[in-house]
Amino acid sequence: MMKCKLCPIHKIAGILVIVGALNWGLVGLFQWNLVTAILGTVPTIERVVYVLVGLAAIAMLFACHCKKCGEAGGCGGNDKSCCQSGGKM
Ligand SMILES: [Zn+2]
Repeated sequence: MMKCKLCPIHKIAGILVIVGALNWGLVGLFQWNLVTAILGTVPTIERVVYVLVGLAAIAMLFACHCKKCGEAGGCGGNDKSCCQSGGKM
């Protein structure tokens, strides 16, 4: 986990990435897909969730270079130590 503060966009993106990762874990362990369980009745929304998780992962890859994260006192500023030490969430 990042110790540095993130801007709201990257906070949301981080949560989405964690949700996506947990879902994959559930699928791997129990062959039970949380997203399908909740949104399986609406395939379009289910697909949108997957796309959002994917986009969130891409957003997190660039969190270290985000100026807003830096303004929030995070790793985008002068201190990039948290990015170098496992900058992924
Ligand atoms: Zn940011």
